[in-house]
Amino acid sequence: MMLMLSLGFLACLILKEILCILCFTLFFLVYLYYRFKDKRIRILFIFFSLLSCILVYPKEVQQQDTYKITEIKKGYYIGKNRGSKILIQTDLDLKFQDEVKVKHIEPIHTDDNFTLFSFTRYNENKNIRFKTNSVEIIHKSTSFKARLYNYLKSKPNSSVVLSLYYGIHDESIDEIYTMLGYGYMSAYYIVLHVLKRKWDETRIRRILLVFSVLFGHFFVFTLAFTRFVLYQLSTLLFTSKPNQMAFTILCFGMIYPNQVLSISFVCPLLLQLVSYFCTEHKWIVQKMVLLGLMFIYFKKVNLISLLFFNIFRKLYGLIFLFGFIVQDLINLKLPDLTIHYAPRILFIVLFIIFYIQCLKHFKWKYLWICIVPFLEIYCNPFFQVYTLNIGQADCSIIVEPFHKSVVMIDCGQNLYRDNVERIIMPFLENKNIHAIDTLILTHDDFDHNGGYDSLKDKIEIKQVIEDSNQSVHVDYPFYLLLSERESKDINDSSLISYFTYDHLTYLFMGDASKQIEKQLMATYDLKADVIKVGHHGSNTSSDPDFLDSLDCKVALISCGYKNKYGHPSVETLKTLENLHINTLCTSDCGSIAMYSLFHFSFVVTNDGMFGIIWT
Ligand SMILES: [Zn+2]
Repeated sequence: MMLMLSLGFLACLILKEILCILCFTLFFLVYLYYRFKDKRIRILFIFFSLLSCILVYPKEVQQQDTYKITEIKKGYYIGKNRGSKILIQTDLDLKFQDEVKVKHIEPIHTDDNFTLFSFTRYNENKNIRFKTNSVEIIHKSTSFKARLYNYLKSKPNSSVVLSLYYGIHDESIDEIYTMLGYGYMSAYYIVLHVLKRKWDETRIRRILLVFSVLFGHFFVFTLAFTRFVLYQLSTLLFTSKPNQMAFTILCFGMIYPNQVLSISFVCPLLLQLVSYFCTEHKWIVQKMVLLGLMFIYFKKVNLISLLFFNIFRKLYGLIFLFGFIVQDLINLKLPDLTIHYAPRILFIVLFIIFYIQCLKHFKWKYLWICIVPFLEIYCNPFFQVYTLNIGQADCSIIVEPFHKSVVMIDCGQNLYRDNVERIIMPFLENKNIHAIDTLILTHDDFDHNGGYDSLKDKIEIKQVIEDSNQSVHVDYPFYLLLSERESKDINDSSLISYFTYDHLTYLFMGDASKQIEKQLMATYDLKADVIKVGHHGSNTSSDPDFLDSLDCKVALISCGYKNKYGHPSVETLKTLENLHINTLCTSDCGSIAMYSLFHFSFVVTNDGMFGIIWT
């Protein structure tokens, strides 16, 4: 009964919107009425439902000028001032509880792309929306916590221990062990097991709980660690497993109302439910749940880590216990046997059904879910056109249905970031694209072809086109326009791609100017439903007469957030608006995906916009 109540509370927190919570509450109250005779549970649920409304209500962030360092992450810090938190990026070597003066703040922004981790969203969930890179230390902490961190950090090979003790993630250790707090959890069970032989178990659990709280105080209360401390407390307060779980869920929800969907909470909870409800083949169900969650949360799974999960878990427990002493010797690197897959809604829905069915009764036929990733990749019937959000640069990817061909137009770089390594390759991996049939490099500019050298070393590219006399080897009409032209600069030499699939035609302009647009009008009688406008939306391109003659429905613009060139220009945006062309800009909405299937086509953006394209 209490478990049902806590799951209802959890659902309210996940729904977040007040209206959704109220609708769910009504529905759930009806369910509780038929399921349980006891009136108290309905009253309790109304209380928790109202509580969730208060907890998820957005809080005003106060921007004060001094902050205390409360969290240390790889490459940045989190500072706290009363209720508000801020992200600090600085070269200064800050420690726990140092006090800093913040001079200037701005909203956190990252170039977000489909299927890739969003740092902005990750922080939003932690209620951190602003960042700063100009701070000054006003007080250096001399606390025990700060000195302890200093000592551990100064040792050689400190990365494994820092990630286990402080959750400062390092690539040498699989996220699953740090994010789920398995170092501490395994250490706890090892100690419990050893001491159980001599002392009474309840007494040891009490002592270990006190020890855990002290540990959290001197190190850090990560999400996973907090959940585990609550679970320890629940084992002392309640004897039945469902009540223990319910207590943990209710308390965690109240402490971290915005983070109940974090893997640090979801994964241990689902595994716990498996170990309680599953009667047979627990091992395989546990592995399948882990596999599904790793795909959903990390978009990749290291098979070695998954298969030997129980062994590694214990190993990390031992490292946790003895890390202080043998820290210098630890240098772990798991063999890399990683498979990538970014699940979409179909997989997530099937995974939830699979999970619920497994809790009732496991059947071998449920393992069919394993082939869903392959079905999704090779049975996708949509023609897909992706405009990646890679800052002030260009990269578009065109995928034919059933993975028949992949064409990429440009792979630009930025000076401040390696787009190929950070965005393009992870995106291709998540889409299971292991070869590019044709790469069109529109012209010789760093923001268009800068990533080529790095890309060709990482993925097979069957054909590279740098000249409009070459032809694109695909089975649908794909032309490079205006092979003969007058161009006065390098931008005007941009290759112009024109292709048709299903009922839609696309025109990709590169950085070509109005001069070239005029020549296009004079040479062809062009129509295009979708245009990738020239030169990142600059006013050197996009002549009103040219755009009008095309009869466009959608305009795509690729440009950097707050770029120094002021792209897209107000003039271009005005022209597009006057012509009633729907304009999507990567700097505003992140990456853009267009899908078409026969006469049905739609567009989706990374920030959640969805629109049907009517032709
Ligand atoms: Zn450009």
